[in-house]
Amino acid sequence: MAEQESSPAAISKTGFLAMAARNHRNFMPYSIGVDLGGTNLRIAAVDERGTLLEKVTLGTETKRGREFVISEMTTAIRSVIAKYKDKGDLIGIGIGVPGFIDMDTGTVLDSPNLPGWADYPVHQDIEHRLGAKVVLENDANAAAMGEKWLGAGRDVNELVMFTLGTGVGGGIILGGRVWHGMKGMAGELGHSMVVPDGHPCGCGSHGCLEQYASATAIVRMAKEAVAKGMSDPMARASRNDVEFSSKVVYQLAIQGDKAAQEIFATVGRCLGIAVGNFVNALNFPMYVIGGGVVSAWDAFSPAMFAELPIRSFIYRVTMPEAVKPGDKRTIVTRSLLGSDAGLFGAARLPMLAANDKTADVPTGSRS
Ligand SMILES: [Zn+2]
Repeated sequence: MAEQESSPAAISKTGFLAMAARNHRNFMPYSIGVDLGGTNLRIAAVDERGTLLEKVTLGTETKRGREFVISEMTTAIRSVIAKYKDKGDLIGIGIGVPGFIDMDTGTVLDSPNLPGWADYPVHQDIEHRLGAKVVLENDANAAAMGEKWLGAGRDVNELVMFTLGTGVGGGIILGGRVWHGMKGMAGELGHSMVVPDGHPCGCGSHGCLEQYASATAIVRMAKEAVAKGMSDPMARASRNDVEFSSKVVYQLAIQGDKAAQEIFATVGRCLGIAVGNFVNALNFPMYVIGGGVVSAWDAFSPAMFAELPIRSFIYRVTMPEAVKPGDKRTIVTRSLLGSDAGLFGAARLPMLAANDKTADVPTGSRS
């Protein structure tokens, strides 16, 4: 027996079993996802099965500048890596960034959310500091990937996601990968035009979705309603509450305030127009609505679902109510992962990059 155990075959079998055990229990390969938000920097370690191993939230404000943010971020990532050093292999680090990423150079294009980051080789710098594979991605694209991997879009390979937050972001998943377009700028769904000659937008256009379906837009529309004397409760709330927010407007809407309800009907109608346009253009099976504003789903979704079949004949003939059981259908739904979508999606990106490299599959886009 002793002889047999020391034979090369037995050793290799033992080695294989040890490896299998290692991969099965505590040694699942993992990656780190980072969500670089405006007010928080969040970091998560996630294994290949999508199990969250650890989540860290730092109160790092991006306005404190590039060097400060990168230094805080890399320090925190290093401590997570040190903790899991003996528990699994690090595949890489995915970072969701609130701005455009030039996918050719790994630089962040000028972003008001990230002062001082433009034209700096962020990707190389962070890879150099951490000695690990780093994937940079726009934060809304990362959120779309999160929903595709573990959320509402688990069973589809194509989806469009709208993230309704301070602004409106978007991400397009095609063939299970983020669709980047020519320069990494695809998926700017917040600047889809929904009201010709509507409210001016920071992008230079007018009537963009972002001006009607973001938290910022909800507060603006509430203040407009107050100025027109349309709601006394809303006027009182805006006077008394220093943090008069879209949440307050939502509370008023569910309490029956007509002006607040009309604001969410506008949110829903504008979303219905935007989603309908994408249904017509893409005929994807799924459109996911996420971001903080989605917590007001019951206030805006009836108007959205009323608008969709008017704006899109493709939706009209493929909506769940119109198809036979088992037939393909267009699903418009809310995100399942909430604010964690971007974190999970960011963690997924290095895994996909590693798979693509191994399989040597040309994806037509780098992710
Ligand atoms: Zn715009």
